[in-house]
Amino acid sequence: MESNSDMVPCPLLLTPIESNYKACTIPYRIPSDNPKKATPTEISWINLFYNAIPSFKSVIIFVDNSGADLILGILPFARELLRRGTKVILAANDLPSINDITYPELIEVISKLKDEKGQLMGVDTSNLLIANSGIDLPVIDLTRVSEELAYLANDADLVVLEGMGPGIETNLYAQFKCDSMKIGMVKHPEVAQFLGGRLYDFVLKYNEV
Ligand code: MG
Repeated sequence: MESNSDMVPCPLLLTPIESNYKACTIPYRIPSDNPKKATPTEISWINLFYNAIPSFKSVIIFVDNSGADLILGILPFARELLRRGTKVILAANDLPSINDITYPELIEVISKLKDEKGQLMGVDTSNLLIANSGIDLPVIDLTRVSEELAYLANDADLVVLEGMGPGIETNLYAQFKCDSMKIGMVKHPEVAQFLGGRLYDFVLKYNEV
């Protein structure tokens, strides 16, 4: 969070500050470096941070709404996981419910997005599975899922519940045997009031086991 108060230079710094001080210990780049090209030092640090991102052997994602939520939210996320070698299971509703994407629709959307090599924008999809969750509500009661989903979820090491209904209204405090992530936007004033937030706040809750 950024402070609202005015910021001033520390008075103990040698002056002129511009030529005597730089808040950077490692020389990532020197003035003669091409500003449009990453330096080897920058690349090595980017790789260091990249490799520190946790990797997961299998991830199950409960998809929610059709449209932009899926195309611009879930699928780029799933594609990035696939690119990193993770098995991704997309679980979709069995039957239509409000604007949630259904299992048959998800199969159709994914097949249309794949190219002739079966790839999603250059990423192999052999580790991408689509499951019928058996659910027919805009919320998710995880005591009642399909046997297919239960079987596929067995070895998951991250479960993702996306959307206000699945991620906030029904499972925000759900505890799992594996890591979990609940993501959603608060779209009901009652939910905002209960959580002590504001309408249209974004919620992301990550639980590590
Ligand atoms: Mg929904």
